[in-house]
Amino acid sequence: MANPSLSTSSTSTSSTSAADGFVGAIGNTPLIELPKLSAAVGRRILGKAEFLNPGGSVKDRAARGIVEDFEVRGLLEPGGVIVEGTAGNTGIGLALVGNARGYRTIIVMPDDQAPEKYGLLRTYGAELHVVPAAPYTNQANYYHEARRIAEATPGAVWANQFENTANRDAHERTTGPEILAQTGGTLRAFVAAAGTGGTIAGVGRALKAHDPSIRVVLADPYGSALFSYVTTGELVAEGDSNAEGIGIKRIVANFAGAPVDDALRVDDRTLTEMAHWLVREEGLFVGGSAALNVAAARYSRTLPAGSTVVTILCDGGERYRSRLYDDAWLRENDVVPQAKDLEFL
Ligand code: PMP
Repeated sequence: MANPSLSTSSTSTSSTSAADGFVGAIGNTPLIELPKLSAAVGRRILGKAEFLNPGGSVKDRAARGIVEDFEVRGLLEPGGVIVEGTAGNTGIGLALVGNARGYRTIIVMPDDQAPEKYGLLRTYGAELHVVPAAPYTNQANYYHEARRIAEATPGAVWANQFENTANRDAHERTTGPEILAQTGGTLRAFVAAAGTGGTIAGVGRALKAHDPSIRVVLADPYGSALFSYVTTGELVAEGDSNAEGIGIKRIVANFAGAPVDDALRVDDRTLTEMAHWLVREEGLFVGGSAALNVAAARYSRTLPAGSTVVTILCDGGERYRSRLYDDAWLRENDVVPQAKDLEFL
């Protein structure tokens, strides 16, 4: 007997919901309510699950935006080379977008990041250059090394996620509108850390264009100068942090002019407690910047009870298993989580 589900009329390609390759699967991530945290603070705390992007982080969006912008401008041809300096996630996104689209990637990383990220890049076939961690003011810094490699490589483009605003545009065009659609007009505040500022600036612009009263709040680790910049206008960095991919000491094009209303700082102990609390109590296994973002959602206490606040779950915990989720590393860094509930918040 014929199986009706196999009849030709029900299997036309137009009726499938398949994404168009790796690149087409980027974005449209779920917005996840954190029910226990929401109950504890009396506000609705929602996390945009960017760790569910096909390359595993929020930076897949920037990678796609940057590559497509080069293509549109005719700067990247089949077989071309993309060069980038990165804490890891942008490189991972670019390597996978590059593989899917037929470009080679050369990725430069400082040597102080989680080992898992170097391993992923090598597995994905990127040409990986690891350079000693150095301040931006030092020409040995990974950012400058990436620029030099791009200049010396025929047919190469330098993604330059810090100054290339195709990064921010990707979030203004996708992440922001998704959050608005998923919150249906109830959103009161958006809280996010900045690495390049692409996420907070792009999402912030989309939210403010829709409703200027939505608060855009920067979550900053110690060692970054952005908290001081937003609250006093001066770029001053205090303290230090183990958080990867976030915090910056200079104003870059993607962050410049971001519509940020307020800022708060989260220390590494709070970040670590939150990371472990999230996996234990909410079942969400995320990286340090996501945990910092969620901890910063304590900002919601300044808003009326019941307010909806969205933050970004930037990447997953897998790529930090040897650090944030490793007992020996936590002891060495004196951040062994101790809290039984949300007392650290
Ligand atoms: N979290 C992680 C883990 C990242 O790698 C990055 C990007 N460096 C960010 C957050 C910050 O994103 P953005 O560059 O859009 O500010």
